[in-house]
Amino acid sequence: MAQNSSDFNYHVDRFADIEVLRYQVPGFNELTLQQKQYIYYLSQAAMAGRDILFDQNYRYNLAIRTVLETMYVHYTGDRNNEDFKQFEIYLKRIWFSNGIHHHYSTDKILPEFSEDFLMHAFASLPDTVKWSIENDLRENVFDGATHPFRQLVSIMFDPTIAPKRVNQTEGQDVIITSANNYYLQPAFKCLKSSSKPITSTNTPLSQQEVKDFYNAQRNPNDQTPVSYGLNSRLEKNEDGSLQENVWKINGMYSKEISEIISWLEKAKTVAENDKQKEIISLLIDFYTSGNLKTFDDYSIAWVKDTASHIDFVNGFIETYGDPLGIKASWESIVNFKNIEASNRTEIISKNAQWFEDNSPVDTRFKKDKVKGVSAKVITMAMLGGDCYPHTPIGINLPNSNWIRETHGSKSVTIDNITDAYDKASQSSGFAEEFMFSQVEIDRKRKYGKLGDDLHTDLHECLGHGSGKLLPGVSQEALGVYGATIEEARADLFALYYLADPKLVELGLLPDQEAYKSEYYGYMMNGLLTQTIRIELGKDIEESHMRNRAMIAQWVLNNTTASTIEITIKDGKHFVKVNDYKNLRVLFGALLQEIQRIKSEGDFEAAKKLVEDYGVKIDKNLHAEMLERYKKLNLAPYKGFINPVYTPIVNEQGEIIDISIDYTEGYVEQMLRYGQTQQSTTQNQN
Ligand code: ZN
Repeated sequence: MAQNSSDFNYHVDRFADIEVLRYQVPGFNELTLQQKQYIYYLSQAAMAGRDILFDQNYRYNLAIRTVLETMYVHYTGDRNNEDFKQFEIYLKRIWFSNGIHHHYSTDKILPEFSEDFLMHAFASLPDTVKWSIENDLRENVFDGATHPFRQLVSIMFDPTIAPKRVNQTEGQDVIITSANNYYLQPAFKCLKSSSKPITSTNTPLSQQEVKDFYNAQRNPNDQTPVSYGLNSRLEKNEDGSLQENVWKINGMYSKEISEIISWLEKAKTVAENDKQKEIISLLIDFYTSGNLKTFDDYSIAWVKDTASHIDFVNGFIETYGDPLGIKASWESIVNFKNIEASNRTEIISKNAQWFEDNSPVDTRFKKDKVKGVSAKVITMAMLGGDCYPHTPIGINLPNSNWIRETHGSKSVTIDNITDAYDKASQSSGFAEEFMFSQVEIDRKRKYGKLGDDLHTDLHECLGHGSGKLLPGVSQEALGVYGATIEEARADLFALYYLADPKLVELGLLPDQEAYKSEYYGYMMNGLLTQTIRIELGKDIEESHMRNRAMIAQWVLNNTTASTIEITIKDGKHFVKVNDYKNLRVLFGALLQEIQRIKSEGDFEAAKKLVEDYGVKIDKNLHAEMLERYKKLNLAPYKGFINPVYTPIVNEQGEIIDISIDYTEGYVEQMLRYGQTQQSTTQNQN
């Protein structure tokens, strides 16, 4: 834990539906110089591929970003003017989404300033700036067009051009209708580039053609297939033939990839051990050759390295940006093990049998021998590509199925990112609005994060693995209610043990007061506040949410107000817990029943519990929650900027330290990252 935790400013920026936060990197200053250098070089490699992602998301993203950044910097008009403010928001949204499509919905983001404003702003730029933009666009993007800037403007403003980055609408050709740059249509191919595809003599590259192309490569008998098509753009030529343009040295994205490699080479010289050196060498080989077999070798070496303190991901990894899930977007993260937090999951795992033996469930349903899973907890040091600024809170890689089955996978939770979310939310006004009194708010401040973490650990490391089915009972016996019952089982296992003195004895909780924070938060969420994520009038559908509603409603309906009640204060509804000890007794009782249902495969009982308590929402309460939440004006999407790492060099030019700084703003960071490669050049190659 950093000493200055309480003064740290997590809030960076707020615009549109976005809040930008920053995260701390506790423990960085305690690393050795060599470890810091290793992280520094890897973090430079994590920045070097950023433009690849912009280009993958849409073919004109880089041109739009660079031109708008240049205009933003050189604009001499009134910066308080409404049009300019909207222009700034648009640019901030492009940075956040790594392109002109929303990072989550993938819908095109339309500017809320006028086309006129943009044309005027452009016209009033210094001549040299204007000419350089036009020349760059003419030479590298729009093939000698007379008014290239106007062409760029129409791409931004016309809602019919590239309306969706990833279209998955049933019944439509998802390749033809998606705007991502993973597939190249013949119309674009013959003319190097153009704002709209010109009429081509050939039919467009279709979903079926893509499927046929990759199915022809797959051998059904191959037990260790490579991830076909993962690192290339599939292009249709004028004559109708297909070819892959591979992302590698001397291929597509060659410039960015050589930059990544040069930083990886430096990182290799300060790696912690030979294993890491081997991993980096394999990755460099893969980037150089584009050979997917080498990528598998790299993935296997990477997944086997669980002992190193520092770890990283850098490459073409996730395939969500391709509607067919074939092509991978570029991403990178750099992290190191959080030893303290990882100890927590190890302690839980080591005591797995004690927890199983002492649970309130019927002995017939308990496992004789239970094995806990110990999850690794990491501290994030750098986010890049598709992990930036929108950030995952957990990672489970590699994605190749046969590698996962044969060699396992690495699953981690990211402690400093979840910590930043937690700290940032403390000033959101959420607790003040929805918690009954200052007692609950203070308790959450003091124990909230720890309670949440332990709940997750107990749920994941023990809950899902506990208990057994009676002989002859099928895994699928509970049908559509299976997932909700299973989540409830894991949650109740965690809730029941959170209040156990054993946790204090094991050093996992500081005192017997801590669990109350998690109990209150769980009941408040299950009974009231989780409904803010559901549209008024709709039922609860998602199984984790059904599980939470079911547990909370069951408890409320099976006890009296002397334990828990929903009460009215100042005309608003609140959850009020009056007896925490009895709450635990009720969790234990429900755990016993849920385990029985699971072990016996009692479908009717599962159905009754879920339908009675987990599906319906009281309409008046729901409307009130939505209303109160709306007033807080919280952003639905959050993301993070990175700290700034700077090498400190002595007179001999040697690095003697790497400093870490958290004062950079959102705009400053984005402009700085953008300037590292300030050309509108498309990655055609
Ligand atoms: Zn679960």
